[in-house]
Amino acid sequence: MSTIDALSDRLSTYLSREQIQQVRRAYFYAEQAHTGQRRRSGEPYIIHPLAVASILADMRLDYQSLMAAMLHDVIEDTGIPKIALAEQFGDVVTELVDGVSKLTHIKFETKEEQQAENFQKMVLAMAKDIRVMLVKLADRLHNLRTLGALRPDKRRRIGRETLDIYAPVAHRLGLNSVRVEMEELCFDAMYPMRSGLIRKAVATARGNRSELVDKIATSLRGRLNEENLPTRVLGREKHMFSIYTKMKEQRKSLSDILDVYGFRIVVESVDMCYRVLGAVHNLYKPIPGRFKDYIAIPKTNGYQSLHTTLIGISGVPIEIQIRTEEMDAMANHGIASHWLYKTDNNEVAGSQHAQQWVQNLLELQKSAGSPIEFIEHVKVDLFPDEIYVFTPKGRIMELPKGSTTVDFAYAVHTDVGNSCIACRIDRQLAPLSSKLQNGQTVQIVTAPGAQPNPAWLSFVVTGKARSNIRHFLKSQRRSESVTLGERLLDKALASLGKSIDDIDQAHIDLVLEETGLGFFEDIMEDIGLGNRMASLVARRLLVANRDTDIDLEAFNDDAPLAIKGTEGLVVSFAKCCSPIPGDPIVGNTSTGRGLVIHTETCKNVQEIRGNSEKCIILSWDKDIDSEFSVDLRVYLENRKGVVAELASAITQADANIEGISMEDRDAKLSVTQLQLSVQGRKHLARVIRRLRTIRGVNKIVRVKN
Ligand code: MN
Repeated sequence: MSTIDALSDRLSTYLSREQIQQVRRAYFYAEQAHTGQRRRSGEPYIIHPLAVASILADMRLDYQSLMAAMLHDVIEDTGIPKIALAEQFGDVVTELVDGVSKLTHIKFETKEEQQAENFQKMVLAMAKDIRVMLVKLADRLHNLRTLGALRPDKRRRIGRETLDIYAPVAHRLGLNSVRVEMEELCFDAMYPMRSGLIRKAVATARGNRSELVDKIATSLRGRLNEENLPTRVLGREKHMFSIYTKMKEQRKSLSDILDVYGFRIVVESVDMCYRVLGAVHNLYKPIPGRFKDYIAIPKTNGYQSLHTTLIGISGVPIEIQIRTEEMDAMANHGIASHWLYKTDNNEVAGSQHAQQWVQNLLELQKSAGSPIEFIEHVKVDLFPDEIYVFTPKGRIMELPKGSTTVDFAYAVHTDVGNSCIACRIDRQLAPLSSKLQNGQTVQIVTAPGAQPNPAWLSFVVTGKARSNIRHFLKSQRRSESVTLGERLLDKALASLGKSIDDIDQAHIDLVLEETGLGFFEDIMEDIGLGNRMASLVARRLLVANRDTDIDLEAFNDDAPLAIKGTEGLVVSFAKCCSPIPGDPIVGNTSTGRGLVIHTETCKNVQEIRGNSEKCIILSWDKDIDSEFSVDLRVYLENRKGVVAELASAITQADANIEGISMEDRDAKLSVTQLQLSVQGRKHLARVIRRLRTIRGVNKIVRVKN
């Protein structure tokens, strides 16, 4: 059993005497605070914080993290207040302890919404000081090591939560040895039978193949010695959990997986890596397409190595990883291996990759619409599988798997994303929604004045693209709703015999105060979005003006608001009745969606027709130059070429076909559904007149509802 003295000895290899003294002070403080408390196993409680600190010492973390590890359960379990801790150990350590305590409260088993919110909290804690997460991971690891004392259902819960959240976070931070141990322990806890079976099978297989492993290792070493390349050659064993996942996900048999022989070759320098690669390719034939250079292009979590697969003696596949000592440390300890021991100030320098990741999470969090949406995107980020593509100038861009050209455009620059209109992949024109593949060269075509399309949100995968598109739409929506709100308010005031100019600032201020909004524009926006009734705001503005003695009931809506069809995102046309200019129309203000326009006769608005707050009488603007969708049903006699005649008649009448579908009624008759875009009712009448002249057209009906 390890003691504080044993730990101090180990710390003396990299911490100063004063720093070790601080760690010891935290230990004794915690020991006293936890006096009388025992773990589920019956041991004194202090065993646990000491073990957590010891895990962090293996990663050579700084003394403040170690102090926080010693004290991490003190606020939580002993009732000692945060303030007392701050007086004893200072703010930095206390904030770390506080952060870890908060993470402890986060439960990931609850319903999705809550889980997402909790994950946000976790990201915030991490962003403040990433050491919070390192202490938490060590805490969780020690709890997993001592799971045996818990009830099976509790073991399973902790196992699931770890596999869902903590192991992926460890992976993302590059803490591989922590992740692997977590996965093995969770696998044991959750599926004791399965892990037992695999363990036994692996032991047998290892026994059987140890001779071959030795042979391969000897021949590798021999060749590298001949070439004067000093290296360490290590056999690699697969972990139970990764074997199990491979069997499950790739439907491979156990022998398929175990029949691959893994080796790691650790060398002194990067240059040596490539020379060793040459030597082993010379010894055994490499399998084409399996070579990966993660030294030139590191993975997102900072991992670097050369990977290659060879065909060895009697055809067995040999997987080889080649890396330097430094890369090996990075592969095992990730962010922790990059730790700078700047122990005298608070500056925390983790690996750049990890910091960048946390920064990205923060930005994502700011722009996500809801916690659920946020966690959906974090999941993409947590299980990274990156692709590498090139700019036309040969710059390498790293993107998550599944990224599209729009993601690429935003990765290059926000302005490029906002104004992209087309793209070329390997010189071929391709849709903006194309998913990118490794190694492609991508060129983005931009146009001045081009704008992001809301439809992009359905295919982009990176947080950067998503947040920028959202941001753009939000500000566009704002200006459009302000304009619509102004018009609605103006109309409401006009119906009361007033105009905006009649209302002085004092009254506006009064209404602002009442509504709790900051600017008059905010009120307009609210009206435009349908969150506030224009008529109510108009009355408020006038009533606020107490000396006015207008009769609020005396005026009627007689000048309906005119619709142009180009109002943008805040005015939409109902799909149920597809109104076109010329149709009598009404508008339904619906919360958050702005104004939805229906035909007066649409059955969906009949219920609210009498309610002048919800249902506004509208008119069409005199000059409209946009196009509107309309659905026609054409009853036809089946005759060769009749559909072609239909199409050309429509074109001659200057209308566009947006969609066409046919169904046969019987051998003689069929029904054709047409979706056309027209300028209005007169235009539609012209189209229909032309269609009637075609032989075989029996009946034409405009479809509503
Ligand atoms: Mn703990």
